[in-house]
Amino acid sequence: MPTPSTAVLPPPKPPAAETLRFFDKIALLRGTVGGSDRPGYVRRFDGPVAIEMRGFDRPEIRADLERLADSLSELTGLEFYVGKKRLSSHGGIVIETMSYADMQSRYGQGGPLCFCRNWGNGGTLHSARIEISEEYADCLAHELMHAIGFDNHWTGPDATDARPSALARRYAPARTSNFSAWDRKAIEMLYDDRLKPGTPRQSALSLAETILAE
Ligand SMILES: [Zn+2]
Repeated sequence: MPTPSTAVLPPPKPPAAETLRFFDKIALLRGTVGGSDRPGYVRRFDGPVAIEMRGFDRPEIRADLERLADSLSELTGLEFYVGKKRLSSHGGIVIETMSYADMQSRYGQGGPLCFCRNWGNGGTLHSARIEISEEYADCLAHELMHAIGFDNHWTGPDATDARPSALARRYAPARTSNFSAWDRKAIEMLYDDRLKPGTPRQSALSLAETILAE
């Protein structure tokens, strides 16, 4: 009788053309309110990044954050650490956790559940600020992706549960509360050394195609 194989096959790789479209949408295009996407450029951190929690410090949110920070370190090759900045030259992401009621009094009824803004110079990010309603803390992966340079959302006809992403809209079938396999690939690509901060969309797409072909 043949011995059954015990080899574990790696999960199938998403097709390169689809991965490139996914990357383009979330990293290189910018959504506009009520309009079509406009072209952007590479925006990302280029050194260690401190992630500091302010407001409520719920242990389960902190544990989730530690895990996501470890994933970011692994995928980007940069150090993402939870705590106060060790050096002023390090990038910084501040996460403020509050109740949904406080979020509403800040932004009004119908305002965001969670929110992120980031700031940089010529494509090199230096800081970001995330605000999270503690009742909706499952948005942490979504907001962290915005914070590290993914300025768009995963929307449109391709954004189905076959191509899941933390950057899909809340309640969309494609939405995940963790970095999906697609997100992980996109994070690796955005932080590939060949994609320099500030690279315009068309050049970045050619480079991304080369990276994917490897
Ligand atoms: Zn968002």
